[in-house]
Amino acid sequence: MKTKIQTLRRTLHQFPELSGQEQQTAARIKEYLSAYPPTRMISGLGGHGIAAIYEFGNSGLTVMIRCELDALPIQEQNAFDYCSQHMGVSHKCGHDGHMAMVAGLAPWIQEQDFDHGRILLLFQPAEETGQGAAEVLVDDQWCELEIDYAFALHNIPGEALHTILLMEPGFSAEVQSFSIKLVGKTAHASEPENGRNPAFTIAEMVQTFEHLSQPATDHPAFRLLTPVHLNLGDRSYGISPGAGELHYTVRTWSQDGMNALVQEIETITEQLCAKRELSYQLDWFEHFPASANDKGANEIVRSAAQGLGLEVKVMPHPFKFGEDFGWFSREYPAAMFGLGAGLDTPALHHADYDFPDDLLPTGMAMFRAVIRQILA
Ligand SMILES: [Zn+2]
Ligand SMILES: [Zn+2]
Repeated sequence: MKTKIQTLRRTLHQFPELSGQEQQTAARIKEYLSAYPPTRMISGLGGHGIAAIYEFGNSGLTVMIRCELDALPIQEQNAFDYCSQHMGVSHKCGHDGHMAMVAGLAPWIQEQDFDHGRILLLFQPAEETGQGAAEVLVDDQWCELEIDYAFALHNIPGEALHTILLMEPGFSAEVQSFSIKLVGKTAHASEPENGRNPAFTIAEMVQTFEHLSQPATDHPAFRLLTPVHLNLGDRSYGISPGAGELHYTVRTWSQDGMNALVQEIETITEQLCAKRELSYQLDWFEHFPASANDKGANEIVRSAAQGLGLEVKVMPHPFKFGEDFGWFSREYPAAMFGLGAGLDTPALHHADYDFPDDLLPTGMAMFRAVIRQILA
């Protein structure tokens, strides 16, 4: 028999929405929560975000539990009866499961009689684009809230079901992307010497950037530069082109590491462009700060897992992907942990992935144990 939470998860799965467009999803969450009314509900946070705040008296600590509203531009390749009804969009990161677990805390919260404190359930928009958390943080409605602890989890396929992945010192890498637009001068292809063709600078940059990488994950100075898009001229064989561009995504373990890398990339770009008299524009975007884990908050996660008798696996380093929970971990004592989603479960962002419903009670039990430690 399906539980209420499982039904909610599958309904959310059927009607996925892209980052920044999570209107129906937010409405569904609000409707579910209306049966367990919070003391205060804030809507339209940083877009379609919702904060459900349950207060126990006026004093005490505020614990935030965060999940994500958005799905991905991927056509689902599954055949079950709750398949995505939205063409080309599906929940391939398990945010449907994360939402169901966090919403599923509401009935339990209503039954609690903590003497003080506050529980804030945050349903954050636009995680996949790295914009949602940052926009929640600058929303006027959010600025007046005081948060003492922030927690979140992410399901992790390829790890045994129900295993808690403890991440010291952080959950995910600092990730940023950049583009460099190079401008020289077009010329006749028979006389390239009369123009300034950016091809050679692009080639030099790709080679120089490769040497900036330190891809060993156990190295504290880990840094990875991945070229994602190159463009030069057109298929016009009479023209030596005068414009081109490079796009990269880069990652490090820390904010300091990223700052140093950004500086190096900017210096190299300036030097290589000057060498061949090219002008350029360097732009940075899609910033996911590293999700650093607070020591105390991480200990709360550890003892929650141990108290529940769950398998704990201490991970040697953060995940290499970006996760915009990093915006929150910059502001508050925070911890994000992994929840094993099964050894044979398809990887995140794969077209045949589906969040395993078996994880719903585990995730909820973890969050309850975390909250109890802080408020009880
Ligand atoms: Zn994702
Ligand atoms: Zn995700």
